[in-house]
Amino acid sequence: MTMNLASDFYYFQDELSDRENESVASIRSYFETNVTPIATDYWARAEFPHHLIPGIASLGLFGPEWEESRQFESGAVYRGWTGLEMARVDASLNTFTGVQSGLAMGSIGVGGSDEQRAEWLPPMATGEVIGAFGLTEPLSGSDTAKGLRTTAERRGDSWVLNGEKRWIGNATFSDIVIIWARDAADGQVKGFIVPTSTPGFSATKIENKQSLRIVQNADIVMTEMIVPEENRLQKIDSFRDLAVILKLTRAGVAWQAVGNSIGAYEAAVAYAGERVQFGKPIAAHQLVQDRLAGCLANITASIALCVRVSKLHDEGRQADQHSALAKAFVTAKARETVAWSREVLGGNGIVLEYGTAKPFADAEAIYSFEGTREMNTLIVGRAITGHAAFV
Ligand SMILES: Cc1cc2nc3c(=O)[nH]c(=O)nc-3n(C[C@H](O)[C@H](O)[C@H](O)COP(=O)(O)OP(=O)(O)OC[C@H]3O[C@@H](n4cnc5c(N)ncnc54)[C@H](O)[C@@H]3O)c2cc1C
Repeated sequence: MTMNLASDFYYFQDELSDRENESVASIRSYFETNVTPIATDYWARAEFPHHLIPGIASLGLFGPEWEESRQFESGAVYRGWTGLEMARVDASLNTFTGVQSGLAMGSIGVGGSDEQRAEWLPPMATGEVIGAFGLTEPLSGSDTAKGLRTTAERRGDSWVLNGEKRWIGNATFSDIVIIWARDAADGQVKGFIVPTSTPGFSATKIENKQSLRIVQNADIVMTEMIVPEENRLQKIDSFRDLAVILKLTRAGVAWQAVGNSIGAYEAAVAYAGERVQFGKPIAAHQLVQDRLAGCLANITASIALCVRVSKLHDEGRQADQHSALAKAFVTAKARETVAWSREVLGGNGIVLEYGTAKPFADAEAIYSFEGTREMNTLIVGRAITGHAAFV
């Protein structure tokens, strides 16, 4: 039987199969039992709870989309819903799984040969191998399609990579990083599976982040780094192929934004029921109810968009502009929802332990990564008008 969250106002979870619902129940229970009690503390210290990796892996959250790594066959709505459940409790840990599962395993799933998929996806599913995804650079964020500066030069059976990356999640401790580099010969972007033990590779943690603090983001420097041809993603020939991966993960970020909003909203509802002002719970004041209803409307509309975009994926009809619209709209609404939720708690809303400050801060990174609102809007604008207005 489906155990709908109270914030799933239109019962969207009923879209899932019994097997999928069973799995969602396990994920919800695992996160509430193991992550809720420690998330605030790890977030405040900006540390990663490594001990949770085997448990998260056992829930089948790494690579559920790929034959080589999945525990059971599932639909895209289910896979999106798992992100909602994780982010409801902690958006950082959902980002960690998003990088491992969507970006790193997704790169190998989409761009790897059969041999590469067979080699890497099974150990990544168990968490034995942790991955990262290195696209963004210090001098190139939104414009990576044209602005990517990291170079790859073919020398015999190997490639020599030189360049820098910024913001790379998990890369301070990951075993491999998918590095995106421009082929010096043909100018096209290629992908490489790079073990972090490769000579010439170094990763340094970005300190003092005020959003998604549990995620360990790194600055990477690569100097004369030699990578064998067998580690080049064999099905990636250009940035266009890489965009297929981002199309999949962007929809996942929309799901994440809803989950993060739900976490803040649930804290606001609980607080409003307990906090008494003017002789009654603040939940009984009309203007507080207005805020809560506004949050629920944002959440409900956002889930509807996410469900639809995931179904388009299953139907083979999801285009770049579909996930771009969902990502831009949902993450913008999420910023509003976490701000209204925080407001309901008054001063306590900015204290971590009360449950709204963390999702409030986390909404900012979610809004900007995997394509800023402007970039995703331009993808939609191109679909509407036929004019690319990026430059
Ligand atoms: C917590 C976190 C985790 C991340 N994890 C990863 C990761 O694992 N791997 C990875 O590769 N990257 C990662 N990123 C990087 C992320 O994808 C980039 O931050 C994002 O793409 C934006 O790039 P930028 O920060 O360089 O901003 P910029 O590209 O410098 O943009 C700055 C501002 O200018 C606007 N702008 C730029 N060009 C235009 C234009 N043509 N028209 C209108 N406005 C424009 C942008 O929308 C934005 O508002 C992460 C980022 C964060 C914050």
